[in-house]
Amino acid sequence: MYCCRSEMDCRFTPRIDIIRMVLLAFLLAASLDNRATEAAEPKETSMDQAFRKLAAAYVDEFPALSPSNATTLGDHRFDRELDQVSESARKKQRDLCQRYLAELGRIHRKELSRDNQVDFQLLEHSLKGELWNLETLQEWAWNPISYTQLTGGAIYGLMAREFAPLEQRLVSVAYRLEQYPRLFTQIRETLDPSRVPPVHAETAIKQNRGVLSIIDNMVMPHLDKLSDADRTRMLRAIATTTEEVERHQKWLETTLLPAARGDARLGKKRYDEKLAFTLGTGLSRAEIRERAEFELQRVRAEMYSIARTLQPAANWPESPTAEQQQQAIAAALEKAYAEVPPRDGVVPAAQESLKITADFVRSRDLVTIPPDPLDIIVMPEFQRGVSVAYCDSPGPLEVGQKTFYAVAPLPTDWTDAQCASFLREYNLRSIHNLTVHEAMPGHFLQLAFANRSPNRLRALLSSGVFVEGWAVYTEQMMSEEGFLDRDPLMRLVTLKWYLRVIANALLDQAVHVDGIRREDAMRLMMHDTFQEEREAAGKWTRAQVTSAQLATYFVGYQEHRDLRNAAKTVWGDSFTLKRYHDGAISFGSPPVKFVKALLLNQPIPE
Ligand SMILES: [Zn+2]
Repeated sequence: MYCCRSEMDCRFTPRIDIIRMVLLAFLLAASLDNRATEAAEPKETSMDQAFRKLAAAYVDEFPALSPSNATTLGDHRFDRELDQVSESARKKQRDLCQRYLAELGRIHRKELSRDNQVDFQLLEHSLKGELWNLETLQEWAWNPISYTQLTGGAIYGLMAREFAPLEQRLVSVAYRLEQYPRLFTQIRETLDPSRVPPVHAETAIKQNRGVLSIIDNMVMPHLDKLSDADRTRMLRAIATTTEEVERHQKWLETTLLPAARGDARLGKKRYDEKLAFTLGTGLSRAEIRERAEFELQRVRAEMYSIARTLQPAANWPESPTAEQQQQAIAAALEKAYAEVPPRDGVVPAAQESLKITADFVRSRDLVTIPPDPLDIIVMPEFQRGVSVAYCDSPGPLEVGQKTFYAVAPLPTDWTDAQCASFLREYNLRSIHNLTVHEAMPGHFLQLAFANRSPNRLRALLSSGVFVEGWAVYTEQMMSEEGFLDRDPLMRLVTLKWYLRVIANALLDQAVHVDGIRREDAMRLMMHDTFQEEREAAGKWTRAQVTSAQLATYFVGYQEHRDLRNAAKTVWGDSFTLKRYHDGAISFGSPPVKFVKALLLNQPIPE
């Protein structure tokens, strides 16, 4: 949740760390720019002015509802406050949504400029989705994981980025910690054990102490930066929080879990509704499944044909049985798993990979590379062990701030067997694929361009489907363009990662609508899509405690593919990849259907 951290299906979280002086200067410059670029648009109407005023009021007003989220977004007015989890807080949220929906009702969308028509719909969609969550889904009553993420995120968000001097951020941490007793009490009053699914209770039990490790790793090492008085205050707050976390742990284990009777499955109706709100896609559940099943067969067939050429001595037949196809692909993948960086060579391998991917993008003129800084950093120790690398991009409104491509050396206390198992998955070619997805030309490049937009509302409501879809698209695009001298093992590894994206999409609806059994889910992951057992077991849990999220990557990729095909049709001979890529990522990160309308000059869809 904290940053775009890939196990190749990283979860994009928009983060807006605003450095106010930079932003002010930027908005001033941008407003001048806009006058020039919008000259071609019809003159701004009074409706446009009314909408922009409303959008600005919303951006100003809504962060107060969740101080923790506001910090993550980069609005630091509420850094010393902590979220309220009470009925009166939820009433405030509902009232705000209804009030803004009523205001939107007074604006005639069709009289707005094209850009404002897009933003109008983003805001309306987001408000309706929030209301649906509060009133219909009611996750606040049955999802204890949302609260473990809140208690961890409220401290993590203050310490992860240097948006203010360290001492100031530490004092904010103390203010928040002092409110944890109140927060934990509210959480226990709000959760209804009879509605909590056991798997959610079990996951919360595993995560609850996470906030203590964040304090240990991100707060404790800096206590010497505080004055004596502040340090005493902080130590007292930490001691109280530790007691509260342990009290809550006991409640989770002895009160919540034994009484947890909820069903983790959303069911057809709620799943379809959530899909529409989360993905904002025109693709239905049935279409997603149909496409994913088709892709599964198509990709496996291509992997088999590569596997045949890699093992000429095995004489694999042109038309294999299911068993032959399985064996041939698995044997070919072993060749890729065998080529791994040395145990102490992961960081240099990632550095080299970044150079190779950037050189390829440049030499093939695939997309404009932004001048924004990208630093390779060694991953902080307590973040290690999940993925070999992740991209920590600056928030959507940050300008010229650094993106970190964090790479993990293997933990020094790992056994040789643990290292070998990890490096099988993160072999040399997987590291290339990861670099493409996270950095070049995936998240780093796309978000660097998105951050240039002065449109705060669009930045705040950016689409995770667009962002993840782009990153997955770039993996396949680079491969199709012949990355790494058309190395067949590179192609094979890229396809294997795509199989995981496909499996995620299938699994999501199979769990929540069709009630797939664990055994069948494990077969889909381990047999059909060649995943390791530990990874598959973790994914089985994740598929139950999240919904609509695991489909994001596949749906986004499909939409990006459809968009590129549409651009090819419309532009004909003047289509080039560079023109297309530069255009597709020039509007920020709204849902793909809006990018299609803006890029190809089509009517803004409803
Ligand atoms: Zn990603």
